[in-house]
Amino acid sequence: MSTRRTRRGTTALDRLRDHYTDADRECSKCGFVDEDGEWSAKTTGNRIDYRRVCPSCGAIEVRTLKLK
Ligand SMILES: [Zn+2]
Repeated sequence: MSTRRTRRGTTALDRLRDHYTDADRECSKCGFVDEDGEWSAKTTGNRIDYRRVCPSCGAIEVRTLKLK
C-alpha cells in the first residue's frame, strides 16, 4: 500500500472516492439522481470496491477500481 500523500494530506483513495461521489449519482435502474448520495469504498487487496444504494428503488450500484 502506498503511503504517498498530496499536499492536503488526502490519500489516493480519498481522491477516488471524491471523484465517484461527484461524477455518478444517477441510478442506472430508475434514473433517480441522489444529490446527497455517497459511495462507500472498501479496499480489497489491490482493488477498491465502491457501493451505493439508491434511496428511490433500492438498487445497489457497484463500481470496482483496480489499483496499480
Ligand atoms: Zn434507483
